[in-house]
Amino acid sequence: MKVMGKQKTPPQKTPSQKKKKRKVTTECTDDNTKTKDAQLDKPNNQIGRILSEIRTGYSRLNKYRNQIGQSLTPYCECGEEETSEHFLLYCPRYQQEREDMRRQMELLNIDPTNIQSILAPPKRETYEATSQIVGEYITKSGRFQELAIPDSRSCA
Ligand SMILES: [Zn+2]
Repeated sequence: MKVMGKQKTPPQKTPSQKKKKRKVTTECTDDNTKTKDAQLDKPNNQIGRILSEIRTGYSRLNKYRNQIGQSLTPYCECGEEETSEHFLLYCPRYQQEREDMRRQMELLNIDPTNIQSILAPPKRETYEATSQIVGEYITKSGRFQELAIPDSRSCA
């Protein structure tokens, strides 16, 4: 009598469901704004990167790109130098978007006319909330989508 020696027991599948914890942030997104069909793979990462570029001053806006020879002009289409501050606080091209940002900043008791307060508020919670708001502004402005073309190809 032969006993079946090895019985294969199928390995138990343990469902590994790693759920990514979503950060709970104050979401105040208006869905009635048309989001451009971005060909960019991960918009959130993109925005994060753009934000840190803006914070350091090395953004893809014309002022800096002109300094490093990647843009022929340091000026914005409105005629002013296109700095981070200009883009965020003054450019008339994004008045509507800025109005939304201003309202949300004021809800957080952040001075919306001060670039330091909106980009680098001291408190951590506020920092995250303002990042979100500025991120929305950046997205809605569409400015960095225009600039998202690889530099080597965009510069003639
Ligand atoms: Zn402008």
